[in-house]
Amino acid sequence: MTVFSITLPSGATWTPTFVAELDQHKCIGCGRCFKVCPRGVLELVGLDEDGQHIHLDDDDDEDGEYEKKVMTIAHQELCIGCTACAKICPKKCYTHAAATV
Ligand code: SF4
Ligand code: SF4
Repeated sequence: MTVFSITLPSGATWTPTFVAELDQHKCIGCGRCFKVCPRGVLELVGLDEDGQHIHLDDDDDEDGEYEKKVMTIAHQELCIGCTACAKICPKKCYTHAAATV
């Protein structure tokens, strides 16, 4: 197996790193990563006292069914490895990794 990389028009090589993990203990649910992700990879959910995820509806009224909001990697397969999420995250929640082919 070799590391997946791309040769840019300039001739330089770029190795994209794809979202691998998100530390929900650090996450404050600010939503910044969600706003910058161009691929719809991420989803904000509620986290209850047992650590279970609760889907948030569009008309969510924060009625106390969950303890806090956290980001999740909902569609990892759509990630293009731009790392915009990691760059904007104020809590350094993300781990990215190169792919092998
Ligand atoms: S690396 Fe880019 S595409 Fe992948 S989850 Fe982060 S912002 Fe979205
Ligand atoms: S930017 Fe970081 S702290 Fe904010 S929701 Fe995303 S993962 Fe959580």
